[in-house]
Amino acid sequence: MSSHLSFFEQVNRYFEQAASYLKIEPGLLQQIKSCNSVYRISFPLRRDDGSMQVIHAWRAEHSHHKTPAKGGIRYAMSVNEDEVMALAALMTYKCAVVNVPYGGGKGGVKIDTREYSIPEIERITRRYTFELVRKNFIGPGIDVPAPDYGTSKREMAWIVDTYRSLGPNDLSAEACVTGKPVTQGGVAGRTEATGRGCFFGIREAVSVKEDMKKLGLDTGLDGKKVIVQGLGNVGYHAAKFLHDEGAMIVAVSEIEGTLYDESGLDFEKLISYRTETGSIKDFPGAKSMDDPSVALTLPCDILVPAALENQITIENADQIQAKIVAEAANGPVTADATQKLHERGVMILPDIYLNAGGVTVSYFEWLRNLQHAKLGLMDKRFEENTNTKILQTVENALGKKFDPKVIAKVAQGADEIDLVNSGLEETMVVAYQEIREIQKSHKNVDLRTAAFISAISKIAVDYEELGIFP
Ligand code: GLU
Repeated sequence: MSSHLSFFEQVNRYFEQAASYLKIEPGLLQQIKSCNSVYRISFPLRRDDGSMQVIHAWRAEHSHHKTPAKGGIRYAMSVNEDEVMALAALMTYKCAVVNVPYGGGKGGVKIDTREYSIPEIERITRRYTFELVRKNFIGPGIDVPAPDYGTSKREMAWIVDTYRSLGPNDLSAEACVTGKPVTQGGVAGRTEATGRGCFFGIREAVSVKEDMKKLGLDTGLDGKKVIVQGLGNVGYHAAKFLHDEGAMIVAVSEIEGTLYDESGLDFEKLISYRTETGSIKDFPGAKSMDDPSVALTLPCDILVPAALENQITIENADQIQAKIVAEAANGPVTADATQKLHERGVMILPDIYLNAGGVTVSYFEWLRNLQHAKLGLMDKRFEENTNTKILQTVENALGKKFDPKVIAKVAQGADEIDLVNSGLEETMVVAYQEIREIQKSHKNVDLRTAAFISAISKIAVDYEELGIFP
């Protein structure tokens, strides 16, 4: 039993399980596993009513085999030192799994965002950024935050503005944080990226015939029953893309409760309903329940936990009816529960693979900032002209004209959003193939272990080729 294990210890348990399949020097494994640095900060906040409050915050850099360190900043009451260390470690492995050249980092501020006004959140964000700058825990080549639970492009805009104002001559200052608004150096498609990446990952998994056969499922997403826990940025987009591709969203849950309709919720209507009423509760036509955790145990094919860690535990693991658990959140299934679910033949699509779409598109944003130009700016028109010429050559050879509208559509060069989405798709597809290959060549280990094996082997090669520091 390991329910006493902290979040970071649970991540390390996965690490050790995977490392046992590899012949890597124990000292090197120790180095890969360790969290390199943690910065703990407390600072005062002047509340709107004039009173003063102390805010507690952290930033962890788990690894530096590649720089900068990369990972989101979370605003939640669950934040503590162990949590940021665990999440930073997951970032290290996640980046390695999808071949994104970063070390792993994560930050957190221990606040319940519902208790603060927007100006208060702005003051907290700017002060936190200032503290990171002071100790060299942020910078385009040092450590690059991004959104996470409780933060969004709004906070990223405050971060880049604060950072820029402290070093106005730094040409690459925009690359100090990703997930920014597009007007502030963000890249098209970053907001949806984690959810879209989850969709690509699930689509890959359900396309493998032999795996689906073992689970008693048909291949493809069409008609698959899906439950999504958490309709935040990640859960909402994952649900939307799965729904658009023919999956049936039978239940969703939010802080206020659970909605269930075994014949499938009308997803678009539900989202408009939530926008209007501020809640998912009592959505017409569906069964509405007060307990958000019920959603995890209702019947479905694919369960997508997209909220916080430690949701599927030893207590409820036996009640999970899903055949596939798709970890859109970081660490939603505990180590004990992972073992239980695997014993029952449930497939877990691990977080360090499945939710890597966010950091993948963050990488594209960072590259865009460093090159100081929109992705595809130089090629779009060239590509369009080339395609038009090819089509005209075909027209001449055939001796007949195509519809000019068809020509325009076929010849169109790629926009930034097309490049981002195709880069994301390629990344998720290739990483899944890599993990599946490892699974096959390592006695059919589970996908989490395979993903960890993939990450550890790549990081070990990095360290070996770097040479260990004296
Ligand atoms: N917070 C996201 C994650 O957990 C994104 C990190 C990033 O883009 O750097 O993967």
